[in-house]
Amino acid sequence: MDETVDYLTDAVAQKRQTHVITANPIMIMSAIDSKDYYKMMRTAELIVPDGAGVVWAANHVGTPVSERVTGFDLLHRLMQAGEKRKWSVYLLGTSQEVIEAAAEKLQLQYPQVRIVGVRNGYFKADQDAEVIAAIREASPDLLFVARGAETQEPWISKYKKELGVPIIMGVGGSFDIISGRLNRAPKLFQKLRLEWFYRLLQEPKRLPRMMVLPKFVVKVIRDKENVTKPRSI
Ligand code: UDP
Repeated sequence: MDETVDYLTDAVAQKRQTHVITANPIMIMSAIDSKDYYKMMRTAELIVPDGAGVVWAANHVGTPVSERVTGFDLLHRLMQAGEKRKWSVYLLGTSQEVIEAAAEKLQLQYPQVRIVGVRNGYFKADQDAEVIAAIREASPDLLFVARGAETQEPWISKYKKELGVPIIMGVGGSFDIISGRLNRAPKLFQKLRLEWFYRLLQEPKRLPRMMVLPKFVVKVIRDKENVTKPRSI
């Protein structure tokens, strides 16, 4: 997490554009199933391990990462970094009510950060140009996008050049938690690597999406076996 924050702080200072993807197993499985999603992930400048499943998989295949870097925690760490440096931030996504409540809470917590724009995430493709123009006009250092992983990451990837914002990061359900609409999983659930289960209890509509998790586990185990198995001659 510290490494990520240092890297992104430098990217803001250098105005080096970085699309940050906080990857979970569902996104990785999407990249395996869809060429477009794969291409999109490969062109992101930084991918960090959001889900406990990604940390487990990286360790299992012998390319360990030290810890989870969740979108929610990284958002707060970037706001802390921005507090010292008076960064400006644009918040895009969720309903208008939730995004305004989240902006209010963030502004109270980080008074030195300038929130230069707030907009809900329910707009259609024919409104993209208008949304992009508003963000360009506000010219933030950071843009947080919460529109669900299937939508937000391809949207960021498609428009990042036009947007011209140094750090753009998809933050999924983070504004729902910051606004108080949903609760973050208690520390115990996080420690037991059951954050996904807590989210499922709060939002049972997530169940169909989670059906790919066992497939992810099987894929990681099989792929490792295939790589490490001695070849028979
Ligand atoms: N959302 C949005 N526009 C959309 C779809 C979703 O702003 O077209 C918001 C939704 O209100 C929620 C957030 O995106 O606050 C994350 O949605 P979800 O939990 O479905 O996505 P996930 O993080 O699981 O991919």
